[in-house]
Amino acid sequence: MAQIIIFPDQAAFQSGLEVLLAAKVSAEPLDPPDFCLGLSATSILVTGMSTDIFRTLESHGVSVSGIVPHGVFRRDVPDAGPPDSKWREILGEFHIASIKPSFTDPTRFRVECVAERSLDPLIPFMARFIRGGAFDPEGPVLAFDEDHRLVSFWDRRIVICRADDLLDAWILVRSAIELIIQAWERRDALTPEKKARLGIGSIEIFKRLPATNCGLCGHQGCMEFSLALLTGRSGLEKCPQMKEKSEYRASLEWLMRAVGLIPRDSSRC
Ligand code: SF4
Repeated sequence: MAQIIIFPDQAAFQSGLEVLLAAKVSAEPLDPPDFCLGLSATSILVTGMSTDIFRTLESHGVSVSGIVPHGVFRRDVPDAGPPDSKWREILGEFHIASIKPSFTDPTRFRVECVAERSLDPLIPFMARFIRGGAFDPEGPVLAFDEDHRLVSFWDRRIVICRADDLLDAWILVRSAIELIIQAWERRDALTPEKKARLGIGSIEIFKRLPATNCGLCGHQGCMEFSLALLTGRSGLEKCPQMKEKSEYRASLEWLMRAVGLIPRDSSRC
């Protein structure tokens, strides 16, 4: 099966290509499309088992952000030129740190990008441009829905949950960069958003609960508990199943930090 390997930077790509070719793996460089040139390192299209390929790269110390299946993209490639180069001045170095199946929908992808510089000074201005979503000025953190996806900004990170495929992820990264540039250009003309809002639905929390409806938390079921978490009437520790299912807890903790329900300083993400 054909797979696409995503690297954090060009140096990792170059090392990865050399290792794969030496190991006689069929490997073909895959440049990112024009509209996100510079935002993502060159990827490699390979044929073979992703676990074997991953092990080969790992054994040679090559950093990999993720491996995704190669297939038909669900969207058309946008007919747009490269992003405004101002992003480098604002963010410094920027890379896709990880791409992996989404916890809440394993048929889609969670993409985490990391910039060299903090987004904190710009997030309150970005919150001015986004209607709805969740914003916590103390973080600051900003998260909002983009159809079935969840996009969030905090510290030096942009996290996109449930991207359809690699092209969809690139499109969302480009949109996120445009939002950052817009905030940066207009920061002297705007007042920063100061009012917190919690415009995400309890369904985002529910998707990260074990969904057994056992009632051990004292609520009628997981949906009722998700509402209690959203409104601050309960805490994660009240769900005993979460203690055993660390992957649920990690995903829910991340979400609650991303929308300001848990202070960002306690982040392990
Ligand atoms: S204890 Fe956890 S799994 Fe059980 S109903 Fe409450 S939230 Fe759902």
